[in-house]
Amino acid sequence: MTYFDTLWDALEPIGRHAATGGYRRFAYDRAELTCREWFTSTAQAQGLEVETDRNGNLWAWWVPEGVDPLGEALVIGSHLDSVPDGGAFDGPLGVVSSFAALDAARRDGLSPTRPIAVAAFADEEGARFGIACAGSRLMTGQLHPDKARALVGRDGASMAEAMSSAGHDPAWLGRDDDRLSRIGTFVELHVEQGRGLIEQGAAVGVATSIWPHGRYRFTFRGVADHAGTTRMQDRHDPMLTYAATALAAGEHARRTDSRATFGRVEVEPNGTNAIPSVVRAWLDARAMDESSLGDLLDVITSRAHACAEADRTDVDVLVESVTAVLDFDVALRDRVAAAVSAEQGGAAVPALPTGAGHDAGILAAAGIETAMLFVRNPTGVSHSPNEHAEREDCHAGVEALTAVVKELA
Ligand SMILES: [Zn+2]
Repeated sequence: MTYFDTLWDALEPIGRHAATGGYRRFAYDRAELTCREWFTSTAQAQGLEVETDRNGNLWAWWVPEGVDPLGEALVIGSHLDSVPDGGAFDGPLGVVSSFAALDAARRDGLSPTRPIAVAAFADEEGARFGIACAGSRLMTGQLHPDKARALVGRDGASMAEAMSSAGHDPAWLGRDDDRLSRIGTFVELHVEQGRGLIEQGAAVGVATSIWPHGRYRFTFRGVADHAGTTRMQDRHDPMLTYAATALAAGEHARRTDSRATFGRVEVEPNGTNAIPSVVRAWLDARAMDESSLGDLLDVITSRAHACAEADRTDVDVLVESVTAVLDFDVALRDRVAAAVSAEQGGAAVPALPTGAGHDAGILAAAGIETAMLFVRNPTGVSHSPNEHAEREDCHAGVEALTAVVKELA
């Protein structure tokens, strides 16, 4: 039983739902606060100094003697919260691996020239308040504190109320320049959320980029009418326009190896025996670069208009958010890959892009030197109880991260 195994076994039961086997660890709820207690006790057992920053992010510091505590730290970590019925690995694998890697590096006699911290960023999934990476966005000034405080979850509590009841003062939320100035480099280890490493037959890889990502609201308008008495040729049915648009989106995304998902739909009046008057549908679209994302949206939008004309309905498209492509620092990525390769006896270390957002992307966008390691996921499934990483691959991830810590510290 390794130190990783001990930490993993202590964290694993927290917030796991008995019926689904999925995790429900949402910002500042009971399960997530228990994960925070696990973080604190783990850090204290290693002799690290624990603090919660102004934005609810957790930090465990090792400042060896003779090292400037305000120097540009090496930060490793990830997040502890989950999506509804998420898997065990998305987030926690990075935090547990960080504690294990720091412990291993210290046992090997590492004497760093700068502080090292393990971080767990708050509310990465945005499952409770709707904004992903809220903790890192607040810290870097990419989310306004007034907006964050006012976000209300499905249980009716605002982020300000949830933070207060967890013992954090929401008045302190906002860009944290003191802290930002202390972060020299951030390395996030994360379970892979696709099949890239399976295809390349490697346990560990490094990230090249995070795909650009857009969210768009399509509003299809027609005319409500009786489902029994209105002849098919007399209808203005926006559900048909929506359905044809969703099929076209899926078809184009498959052909171009991009991603198009209509995951949320609202229907008015939403009656079984009524032709709808309005269908609102939200498109999540991602592609390998910004021009491909632009093409994807153009194709879907023009197909929606063509279908609307044929169905005698209307459609308009509102851009809700677009996140630019994020290319990780090439020099750091090469250095990280070289350290991992050397640790693995010269094996090739795959470099791959990802379609998922991460705190590492938020920090990199704020100008912090940032890299990511991915650990193989044998099914490629994530945000599901079926998300998995073999224990052997988790250990390979810890060894890789240990090598990276030694290289960068
Ligand atoms: Zn994650």
